[in-house]
Amino acid sequence: MLVELAIGDAYGGAFEHAYPSFVAEHNNLTGYVPHHGQPGAPAGRYTDDTQMTIAIAEALVSGLRWTPLLLAEQFVRAYHRDPHDGYAPRFHQLLSEVRDGEELLRRLRPQSDKSGAAMRAGPIGILPAVDDVLYHAKLQARITHDTPAGIAAAQAAALAVHYCHHRLGPLSEIAKWIEGILPEDVGHGGWALPWSGKVGPQGWMSVRAALTVLTGGGGLARMLHSAVALTGDVDTVATIALAAASRSPEVAQDLPPVLWRDLENGEFGRDHLARLDERLLHI
Ligand SMILES: [Mg+2]
Repeated sequence: MLVELAIGDAYGGAFEHAYPSFVAEHNNLTGYVPHHGQPGAPAGRYTDDTQMTIAIAEALVSGLRWTPLLLAEQFVRAYHRDPHDGYAPRFHQLLSEVRDGEELLRRLRPQSDKSGAAMRAGPIGILPAVDDVLYHAKLQARITHDTPAGIAAAQAAALAVHYCHHRLGPLSEIAKWIEGILPEDVGHGGWALPWSGKVGPQGWMSVRAALTVLTGGGGLARMLHSAVALTGDVDTVATIALAAASRSPEVAQDLPPVLWRDLENGEFGRDHLARLDERLLHI
């Protein structure tokens, strides 16, 4: 799951908020594309979505009881040992300034309803019970996104992985299943409503777009292409969709080998993700 979502994030990151013409020209899965707005930036590098997902996954495999402080420590540690781009500017600035989780919690104003809490929630879906998934998704969301919409988006993203990993039904029913657990009360019209067009910044937008990609069927390759073709916040759509799809027995695991090969592989790159994945799937 972690390698696949990182591939989605790294591939999608180059297309985040790019012009539709750039996306149409380069979204062909033949390799990582340099970021449209940062010529010279290394291709195949994942973004904040994967970095924060690593923090969540490490908190899960630690076996420690989750507290806001534990999660905040994880976020600070994951960033400082290997700083990556993609964070919202103000949060990025804060992360780089704080020395530990206590300082992050003290200085953070967690009022966002954007996608940050949803993009990192995937690993939580591995937990065996829906109530545990909802509890942990909410706890981690409240650190940065303590709003009804921010929390619901994180819970929906984690539930998507849960549905696939625990084989709860056909992929075509995933959004309806989530809707049955998380009644839509944050003003977006329902998780099963198909998304079309550019994906905006709020968490529910990325999640609904990812659910649309998932219910559209096909293999991981088609899903990655479809997620990016939407334009907008597509690294997050791809991260959320591929986290779930990589755990579905229905989905062909057909990401092009070049995307596996060229994913960054430093100390916290591909091999680290694969090892962490192995531990995560056995919690
Ligand atoms: Mg990102």
